[in-house]
Amino acid sequence: MENSYKIAFVGLKNKVYRFEFDIDTEFFRKMGYEDFHNAEVLAKLDFDKRENIFELRFEIDGIVTLECDRCNELMDYELMADFTVFVKYLSRETLDADSTDEIIYIPKNETHIDVSKMMYDYILLHKPMKITHEMGIVNKGKPNECDQTILSKLKIQEENTEEEVDPRFKVLEKLKTNLYNE
Ligand SMILES: [Zn+2]
Repeated sequence: MENSYKIAFVGLKNKVYRFEFDIDTEFFRKMGYEDFHNAEVLAKLDFDKRENIFELRFEIDGIVTLECDRCNELMDYELMADFTVFVKYLSRETLDADSTDEIIYIPKNETHIDVSKMMYDYILLHKPMKITHEMGIVNKGKPNECDQTILSKLKIQEENTEEEVDPRFKVLEKLKTNLYNE
C-alpha cells in the first residue's frame, strides 16, 4: 500500500518544494499511540533539496482531543511544533553513520524519505508531560476549567486515603507518648 508520508526525491530539482500532510487520529493509532481521542493536525513541510543534503523544515499546527491529566475529562489542546531535520544522502550504498534526531543518513540506493516517524517522534518528545484544562483551548464556548464535581470527588478520594493511613500514625503517636511517659 502506498504510504502518503513518503517523499520520492529522485528526479527532484535542487530547490524548495512544499508538501502538506494530514496528521489525523489514524496516524497516531498506526504508530501505536492511543492517548489522542481525536487529532486534526496539519503538517507543512518545506523540503529544501540540495545536492547531497536535504533540509526539511516542518511547521505543525492543529488540535488534539485528549484526557485532562487532572480531572480526566476530554479537552482540546493546540499542538504546535516547528522543527528542522537534515537528511544526508550518502555517496555509499552502505549506511555507516548513526542517525540522530536532527540528522538522518540515508544510503545512496534509497529513493524515498518517510517523514511520518520524524513528525511523530518530534510531537511526542516535545509535548508537555502533563496537559490540563488551563492549557487547553476554548471549545464551543465551553470554559477552560476542570470539571469541579469530578475534582471534588477526587479530593474526597484523596482524603479517604489519608484517613486510611491515619491509624498507623496514631499508633506511632501512642508509642511515642508512651516512651516519653516511661
Ligand atoms: Zn481538567
